[in-house]
Amino acid sequence: MHFSSGMRDYKIIIIGGGISGLSTGLAFSKLYNLKETPALIIEKQKTVGGCVTTFARDSYRFDTVQIIPDVKNLLKFFDISTDLVKFDHNYANLYLVNSETESIETIPIAADEINFQDFLCIRYPSDAKKIKRFFRYCNRMHSELKFLKTEPKILDIAKILIKCPKILYNSSTTYKAFLKKFKFKNSEVYEVLDVFSSFSGLSGNRCAALLTACAMVTTLKGSYRPKKGFITFPHLFRNKFIDLGGEVLTNTEVKQIITENNTVKGVILSDGRQIKSEIVVSTADTRNTFVDMTGLDILKSANKKYAEKVKNVKMSPSAIAIHIGLDDIIDLKSFGLDTGYNVITTGRATHEKLFDEWEQGFHYKSEKEFHFGVISPSATIGGKQTLILHVVPVPSEKWIKLKKQDHEKYLLEKNKIADFYIDLTEKYLIPKLRNHIKIVDVSTPATYSRYIGSPDGANFDMMPVPENFGKNRLKSRTPINNLYIAKFSHGIWPSMQAGLQIADMISGGKIMKGNASYL
Ligand SMILES: Cc1cc2nc3c(=O)[nH]c(=O)nc-3n(C[C@H](O)[C@H](O)[C@H](O)COP(=O)(O)OP(=O)(O)OC[C@H]3O[C@@H](n4cnc5c(N)ncnc54)[C@H](O)[C@@H]3O)c2cc1C
Repeated sequence: MHFSSGMRDYKIIIIGGGISGLSTGLAFSKLYNLKETPALIIEKQKTVGGCVTTFARDSYRFDTVQIIPDVKNLLKFFDISTDLVKFDHNYANLYLVNSETESIETIPIAADEINFQDFLCIRYPSDAKKIKRFFRYCNRMHSELKFLKTEPKILDIAKILIKCPKILYNSSTTYKAFLKKFKFKNSEVYEVLDVFSSFSGLSGNRCAALLTACAMVTTLKGSYRPKKGFITFPHLFRNKFIDLGGEVLTNTEVKQIITENNTVKGVILSDGRQIKSEIVVSTADTRNTFVDMTGLDILKSANKKYAEKVKNVKMSPSAIAIHIGLDDIIDLKSFGLDTGYNVITTGRATHEKLFDEWEQGFHYKSEKEFHFGVISPSATIGGKQTLILHVVPVPSEKWIKLKKQDHEKYLLEKNKIADFYIDLTEKYLIPKLRNHIKIVDVSTPATYSRYIGSPDGANFDMMPVPENFGKNRLKSRTPINNLYIAKFSHGIWPSMQAGLQIADMISGGKIMKGNASYL
């Protein structure tokens, strides 16, 4: 292979400047002096961040993401500091709607596990013991994480068998099945605890129990948002990486990953330039990485089983986000919206139904059955008043096609969908909301597909169902030598972990001693 880019040869090329790519770059800087060992991040957008960004519409600023657990130890590892606002009152509200009686019940989720537990025990006294057992169990399962290894050897496996009984026992369990094991008497307890599956981006009957339970434990220990918007993270990460000697190429798309004799050799950019690199780490959409950039045939000849898994991997759903700018008169705090995230739902069964319909390619919409997120970032970090309605799951195909084929109709449909969810919000949560709206901006699956580069608009890459999660997840060390995918799980914290995992694998354990996470 003749390389013709006019660029230097790299030790490592990272495809994608989202949190996983930037974290990989920073973790790599712990192994090598980047001024002597060239490292390059290639990002197809104008700026880094990927899913994690902040954008302006008129004078309003919106974050794409809303909430993170405590990432202080990871920021410390990366030597990065930023101001984070902690949700110290309620970290979320669950609004349970009875659409027949048009009544609504607000269940606050305290930003502290003990307070939340106490609240549940008082509200559901006949289930108090079981509720305590549930939290105890989840905490113990979470504490077992420290014994997991990314690439366990025989001795590690023996240790995991002894030290991680709860993780192993629940590794094939969905969160819904997991909840059932605690045999709560009051069905509302299931409704309330199910809210954590919404935060994991799936319905409880699909989401891996380990993911949801551990995400619950960590977010209840403390949840945050950056004071100056989520874009602060990628910007700080990028600046640090460049200061350390790393290079970042934005507005540049990788078209192909070059392999030779089952070993990665570099990448080809969409402008035809070829860049040589000893190691390539992709953080792009998993299917995109293998099907479009590497080629399934090449992957198949390296490892048939791995290629088969890629072919059948379930990708996560897409979403619609309705960004609303409001006047200064309305007081969103007075509606109790000064939390990290709120879910308004007609119940678990609705959430499951939405996913059943999504799997058939439909977006189920009914005034009688609905489930979506309502977030007011301005109520917690100040600034001009904003509200975001977040709808998951949404099938992508129709939106992607419509945007390409009939832009006018696409805009009309976007407005229609925004109206539907704004009406519900006005009816149940914020009376006279419409009188205060100044601007509305809607992101559809077509927006996400284009921005992230995910062919089917998947917001969270691989779907965290049990057969796709934990030990069943597609391995980060691919069967092609020196080609890695940084995919721990979705979320900002897991994306940081993904970067550390890759540097750890490359270095034979110099970052985390082979541990699966940096806790
Ligand atoms: C709407 C939404 C809300 C979310 N809310 C939260 C939240 O509240 N809290 C939380 O913790 N997580 C949240 N997440 C999840 C979290 O943002 C993501 O899991 C995480 O940011 C993924 O980071 P990443 O770097 O792995 O992937 P991405 O952010 O997708 O980054 C991949 C990057 O690769 C680039 N790329 C793709 N293909 C190519 C190519 N061929 N060449 C060059 N570059 C390429 C893309 O442009 C992108 O910048 C949310 C995600 C979405 C979409």
